[in-house]
Amino acid sequence: MALPERCFGSPPIVKIQLLPSSIDSTGQCSPEQRLTCFVVDDHVAIDAGSLGISTSDHQRSTIRDVIITHPHIDHVASLPIFIDDLFSSLQQPVKIYATQEVIDVLERDLFNWALYPRFSELRNDYGRIMEYVQVFPNQKFFIGRLQVTAIPVSHSVPTVGLIISDGTSTVAFSSDTAKTDSFWAAVNAETSVDALFIESSFPNSMTQLAEASYHLTPQSLQEELAKLERQDLDILAVHIKPTFRTEVIEELNALNIPHLRVMKPGIVYEF
Ligand SMILES: [Zn+2]
Ligand SMILES: [Zn+2]
Repeated sequence: MALPERCFGSPPIVKIQLLPSSIDSTGQCSPEQRLTCFVVDDHVAIDAGSLGISTSDHQRSTIRDVIITHPHIDHVASLPIFIDDLFSSLQQPVKIYATQEVIDVLERDLFNWALYPRFSELRNDYGRIMEYVQVFPNQKFFIGRLQVTAIPVSHSVPTVGLIISDGTSTVAFSSDTAKTDSFWAAVNAETSVDALFIESSFPNSMTQLAEASYHLTPQSLQEELAKLERQDLDILAVHIKPTFRTEVIEELNALNIPHLRVMKPGIVYEF
């Protein structure tokens, strides 16, 4: 696959950051990933685990679109805090893009007045503060210049992977998944893909737990990558369980998969 031509000196096409969700004993951001939230171009969040606690002031002022792949708490934990912070100043609602199944869980179990207020029913001086945008599996939708497709993957609750493109650069997110097929078919059907963000939760020694909880190990990640018909994209491993991080990284490195690296929180990656 030929990478798209870019003019010398032109700005990066798509910028992606995994927000930090852990600190070390000195108070600095550490590499363990306990929550999931990717920020695309400082404007769109993919999941909201650490959205309410780890965004910069700039990101807090620019992110108004949030895609939720599934409602597990490590993916939505601080979504209420993000909106709470912005409550009085929002001049447009924060849009939550999700399948109807996910929206139903968020309304029933998170924004249910008991755990937190139902922001979808509240207004500030400017109008509504949060609204849902239902997305449909395998149907493109648009957020600004980004085209997004949600593809159902195989997890313990209804979950979608994502393919996001600005027309030039294309990136794919597996979200949380066990072995799956439709996601790989969709990735293979793209004209080009620049980067793949794929989960690798548990070490190989915990294959049973990985399967029971619908996650991947380095071994099953390798088996999944065999379904990928393109070889020259960047592969970033994410969602490594902090307790087993060293073991998982050693096992990933031992696979010698070209272009594979472990994604570091806080770093902005450009594609
Ligand atoms: Zn999950
Ligand atoms: Zn997760």
